[in-house]
Amino acid sequence: MANLSNINLYDVAVIGAGVAGSVLAHELTKHGLKVCVVDKARGSGGRLASKRFKSLTAKDVASNTSELGTVERNGGVRNISLAADMGCYVFAANTESFQKTLVDWMAQGRVLPNNFESDKRMSNWRTCRRSSWLTRSLLQKVDTKFSMKIVQLSHASGLWRAYTEGGDEAEAIVAKNIVLTMPPPQIALLLPDTHPDRLKLMHVPYQCQWVLPVFVSHESAPTFKAQLDSMLSAHGDNWLSHYWEESSKPQRAEHPIVSCFVLYLNEWCSRAHGNSDAAQVEDFVLDKIKQGNRIDICKIYAHRWLYAQCCQPIRGSAGYMQLDDNLYACGDGFASIADPTYEGVERAYLGAIDLAARLVPNALNADDQLACS
Ligand SMILES: Cc1cc2nc3c(=O)[nH]c(=O)nc-3n(C[C@H](O)[C@H](O)[C@H](O)COP(=O)(O)OP(=O)(O)OC[C@H]3O[C@@H](n4cnc5c(N)ncnc54)[C@H](O)[C@@H]3O)c2cc1C
Repeated sequence: MANLSNINLYDVAVIGAGVAGSVLAHELTKHGLKVCVVDKARGSGGRLASKRFKSLTAKDVASNTSELGTVERNGGVRNISLAADMGCYVFAANTESFQKTLVDWMAQGRVLPNNFESDKRMSNWRTCRRSSWLTRSLLQKVDTKFSMKIVQLSHASGLWRAYTEGGDEAEAIVAKNIVLTMPPPQIALLLPDTHPDRLKLMHVPYQCQWVLPVFVSHESAPTFKAQLDSMLSAHGDNWLSHYWEESSKPQRAEHPIVSCFVLYLNEWCSRAHGNSDAAQVEDFVLDKIKQGNRIDICKIYAHRWLYAQCCQPIRGSAGYMQLDDNLYACGDGFASIADPTYEGVERAYLGAIDLAARLVPNALNADDQLACS
């Protein structure tokens, strides 16, 4: 057995701080387990996340809105932070258990029913404030480690070790159980070539999606909105799936200088630009916008989600998968046969709850056994 006296040993190390990882870590911590959550990103949320941009300054905006183009300079009169919800921001709740949790989360100020103006689908929910607020609030009492990418796992003497990119042995996370919550093709990269489920995980299909927040001057916003609406209703030039106006969402403070529209390229166009880089997609969208009325664009930013939505999750008797002794996977790439139709966020939630139910008694039994031996 390894010398445990100088090791920070966790009952469970959760890799990934998206919905699945955050719900799971919250549940396990509530039951007294020693848990840590590790994510390669700078904060929590995963695909339910918001992004902050390099600040624009009042001077930048004033001097650049007369020209179509991006503003990247800094150091002007006054910093104005820009942020936008980049991934999922509304989600469905079809199961009674998720609906019940959402009602509790609503009472705790984490989510609201999505009844804002541009979408009346009442079964949908959205997070309060920015998207990542939900996971941040779930992780308040959890030991979190951000900007740490896990690149390798090993198992010896009954313990798992997760190694970080550029980190050495001393920086490895050591835990009795490890849970991987990223999309299955990314999980496959952490498994040995000989693992029996590696190929299955690698081939779980995901839709790729390009998302572009576009910041325009307040004066241009009504014209831009009308232009986007007319593009959506035109049948010929089919590239835009939908868009959201950030300020239309409740609890989003109006920005003093710019309005933000988040544009989602449709599936066909996202696939056609599968190998493009961000600058090419920004130019593509700017060309489309230039064809209409003059719009003062302060900033445009393209982000590609390689794994946006899972089309065909791996199904099992529960919403998670056991990959090895005390090594598990959950997230939107896994579903229980009993829950056939749910969307990504709900699937990630249900899998995390199933796995928490499995891990809590396991951990408590293991402690009982240790106490008896
Ligand atoms: C544009 C867009 C629109 C969407 N629309 C909807 C919708 O309308 N309804 C709906 O239900 N769902 C929607 N989804 C899908 C939904 O966002 C996801 O299903 C859900 O957020 C998945 O959560 P998760 O915890 O399973 O995975 P993720 O959110 O992907 O979390 C995994 C985490 O693991 C981290 N990670 C990955 N690799 C490593 C590593 N090696 N080391 C450390 N950390 C790592 C990532 O940074 C990430 O934070 C949408 C997604 C996108 C992108």
